[in-house]
Amino acid sequence: MKQIIVLATRNRGKTREIRELLKDFPIDIKNLDDFGPIPEVIEDGETFDDNAYKKASFTAKILGHPAMADDSGLCVEALDGAPGVYSARYAGDNASDEDNVKKMLDDLKGKENRDAAFKCVISIAVPTGAALTYEGECNGVLTKEPAGDNGFGYDPLFFYPDFNKTFAQLSIQKKGQVSHRGKALKEIASEIDKIIKWIDMNMPIFKPVEYKGGNS
Ligand code: IMP
Repeated sequence: MKQIIVLATRNRGKTREIRELLKDFPIDIKNLDDFGPIPEVIEDGETFDDNAYKKASFTAKILGHPAMADDSGLCVEALDGAPGVYSARYAGDNASDEDNVKKMLDDLKGKENRDAAFKCVISIAVPTGAALTYEGECNGVLTKEPAGDNGFGYDPLFFYPDFNKTFAQLSIQKKGQVSHRGKALKEIASEIDKIIKWIDMNMPIFKPVEYKGGNS
């Protein structure tokens, strides 16, 4: 039987990439939409590590299944590493990808240095709180206008020099070869057997309470 792992996200772009890049492995990847309403995790950590762990352990505890969470973002040199962990909310709470892209272009107007890095931390946690952590990073240059229709988030601005294209001009598979998330997932894929064994050993054993009858 395939090992169930719940992806602790409602981000469709992330879900699509993670499902595609792990599709050949013996895991059944669910996401939060498979479980009805559950409380939102407050992402108030100061690092990608903090937030990835928070999301994965909270989801595993609430649902009783192993969970995987990706916390990721764009770190821009000319903005002293911003927006980083605030990438999803760069243009404000409930900002759309388009709002964030527009704000990024405005904030970089007139700046020479357009170097940036995508960073990703993936945490895999069981309901007891034990967790494994994987990381990936990818360097690129931010363009002066969006290009491409694929991907999500800042992909239309993220130019990858070796491919001479933005991430939004690449297929999921091509982006996954070099992206921050692709690198973290490659590491996960390379030790998937060990991870499945680790999950098995660390999942709590639920024993049904024995009913003895009577009113003792
Ligand atoms: P999180 O859900 O708090 O991890 O927010 C991640 C945010 O970082 C996304 O909403 C995007 O704005 C940005 N981001 C992370 N990974 C990518 C990527 O692969 N492409 C484009 N934007 C990304």
